[in-house]
Amino acid sequence: MKFLREVPPGGEGLVVLRCDHWGYNSIGVVSEDEACVVDPGLTPGEVAAMGDALREGGRRVTTVLLTHSHHDHIRGWDAFPGARVVAPAAVRDKEEGPRARILAGKARFDERLEDPAPGFRYPEVDDAFEVETTFRVGRLEVEARFLPGHSNCTSVALVPALGALLTADYLVVPGLPYCRWEAAPFERAQRELSDIVRARDVDVVVPAHNDLIEGRDAIEAAIRAELDYFAELRRVVGAHLADGAGKDELLRRCAAHMGERRGEDLGPRARQDAENARRVLAELS
Ligand SMILES: [Zn+2]
Repeated sequence: MKFLREVPPGGEGLVVLRCDHWGYNSIGVVSEDEACVVDPGLTPGEVAAMGDALREGGRRVTTVLLTHSHHDHIRGWDAFPGARVVAPAAVRDKEEGPRARILAGKARFDERLEDPAPGFRYPEVDDAFEVETTFRVGRLEVEARFLPGHSNCTSVALVPALGALLTADYLVVPGLPYCRWEAAPFERAQRELSDIVRARDVDVVVPAHNDLIEGRDAIEAAIRAELDYFAELRRVVGAHLADGAGKDELLRRCAAHMGERRGEDLGPRARQDAENARRVLAELS
C-alpha cells in the first residue's frame, strides 16, 4: 500500500491510500480536528494505516461513508468506533439473499489475502439517505448523492470546497464501464456526473480504483468515453440481435468488437465487455 495523497499541509483536503489489490483507493477527507473515511480499505492493515493517517495530530474520525455495498467498499466499516456510518438507504435495505452473496464474495477474496478480516458483519448504517445528504467534516461540507447504475445501491460524494468528486466505481477505467446492474441507469449516472462536474466546478475525480482524473478536460473526456462506449455497444448488440445470433455467440462477438475498438489489451479486466453486453442485451430482449 502507499499514500497517493497524504494529509495536506495545513490539515485540510483529501487523503488517498492505494491498497495492494485491484488498484483500490481508500479515501479520507480531513478538516480542522475532524475526518471522514470513504470506503475504508481492503485489509485490516490498510484500514488501520488510513485510520492512523486521519487521526494524526488528534483528529477524530467522525464519519464513515460507504458508497455502495460491494464487499470491497464495505470492509472496515466497523473499525472507527464513535463514527457514524452513512450510506444509501439501498445499502441499509439489502435483503438477506443479496447480503449473503456479498459476504460470500468477501470470504472468497479473504482466502487470497494474508491479512483477512475475520468476524465481519454486514454494515449497520446509522444515517441512510434516499436521494442525498450533506454532512460536515471540520469546516468542509460533503454531499453524498444516490446514483444507481454501477449497482442498484451506488452513490457518489462531492466535496465542493475541494472541487473533488469521489465517484465510487464510476470512471475506474474510462472506456471500460463497470456496469454491474442495468445499462440505462448507468448511462443516466454518467450524464448526471457530467452535470455535477460542470455545475459544481469539479476539477478532480477520485474513483474507487485506479488513477485520479485531474482537470476538467480529462474528466469530461472520461465521461464521454463511457457514454460513447455504451452508444457503440447498443449499436452492435442491436445489429447482432437483428442477425439472429444466439446469446453466447452474440456476447462473444460484441465483447470482441468492443475490445478491438479500444485497441488496447486490458487482460482479464476486459471480461467486463461481455458483462456490459449482457446488461444491454437484457434490456433489449
Ligand atoms: Zn462496486
